[in-house]
Amino acid sequence: MALIVQKYGGTSVGSTERIIAVAEKIMATRAQGHDVVVVVSAMSGDTNRLIDLAKSITDRPKDCEFDVLLATGEQVTISLLSMALHSAGCPARSYTGTQVRILTDSAHTKARILDIDDKAIRADLTTGKVVVVAGFQGVDEQGNITTLGRGGSDTTAVALAAVLKADECQIYTDVDGVYTTDPRVVSEARRLDKICFEEMLEMASLGSKVLQIRAVEFASKYNVPLRVLSSFVEGTGTLIAPEDEIMEQALISGIAFNRDEAKLTILGVPNEPGIASQILAPIADANIEVDMIIQNLGADNSTADFTFTVHNNDYKNAFAVLENCAKSLNAKDVTGDTRIAKISLVGVGMRSHAGIASSMFTALSDESINIQMISTSEIKISVVVDEKYLELGIRALHTAFNLEKTEVK
Ligand code: ASP
Ligand code: MG
Repeated sequence: MALIVQKYGGTSVGSTERIIAVAEKIMATRAQGHDVVVVVSAMSGDTNRLIDLAKSITDRPKDCEFDVLLATGEQVTISLLSMALHSAGCPARSYTGTQVRILTDSAHTKARILDIDDKAIRADLTTGKVVVVAGFQGVDEQGNITTLGRGGSDTTAVALAAVLKADECQIYTDVDGVYTTDPRVVSEARRLDKICFEEMLEMASLGSKVLQIRAVEFASKYNVPLRVLSSFVEGTGTLIAPEDEIMEQALISGIAFNRDEAKLTILGVPNEPGIASQILAPIADANIEVDMIIQNLGADNSTADFTFTVHNNDYKNAFAVLENCAKSLNAKDVTGDTRIAKISLVGVGMRSHAGIASSMFTALSDESINIQMISTSEIKISVVVDEKYLELGIRALHTAFNLEKTEVK
């Protein structure tokens, strides 16, 4: 007998029919002899609807009231799901974040979980109940309702699994697992049976939207085995686990990409100590996050060109900051481009294999795709290319690294 935490996302509980289907899935797990704790999101679209309601009254709702409002979405689904379980003859009980006491800090709309009181949940499990917990919400020291940020129900589920020392945390969603890349871009994209935490963190931060990144960080920190599965079709999904538990590790696990980047260049700055910090400090002060950074020296070594990428939304601000900076540094010019995209190869196998980068660059050059920037880490190689070559580039790499084939070393 195992203890399983199951999380059902918004589409999985998007209608009362779906909620009844979820109740059946939970009962099937119980019939195998397992204890089940369930975390649910709001019905799909509901959180957005609540946000729109607030916005139709004021552009600046008080954060604490905003959280009281947003937390109602999940209160609807926990009660309906418990009713569905009762109707099917299954004992169950629902809990809001406050009722469990999922203690968070007071950072409204992006609170972090500090502690979870598991007493009531454990007592219910002992008496044979299914425990249904509202995702995405908690309560701070002062008793204020907080929310964890969009997609936060994943984090609730992982945190509960960690506290309860669950055997597995299953995230039910509308896709049947984690894929080598987005199947809408490459139709041969393959579902991965397993991927390790580090790879999943890279994939998630690079724009693969299957799981909230904070949930993966949490799972990795507390060693909670995570499984992503579809609530619509049967299957074993993708297991996300520590690296040493994944036996046949593929060289490359996947290709992540991000269309939302823009690049900026400040040309002809003095090649002297302190210049990079003089360029990036005002960018940081403007709260703009920088991703890739490159510096090239001019032929005579006396000047340098400095290029970096930011999120598209920050492009205009970053450009203005850089123009100011150009004046004070006596730089030649500031240029920028929003029509770029980043493609990244991810795989822990890279650590022990030479030549991945050169194979990647060859595959792109065979398609005449120009690489504008490159950055690497231990398990990732990223390139920036013209946005119009994004799909072509991803497809070329997917083929070059045989990602459509089942995992072989
Ligand atoms: N309902 C919240 C959202 O839409 C939390 C979640 O679904 O994970 O972001
Ligand atoms: Mg989600």
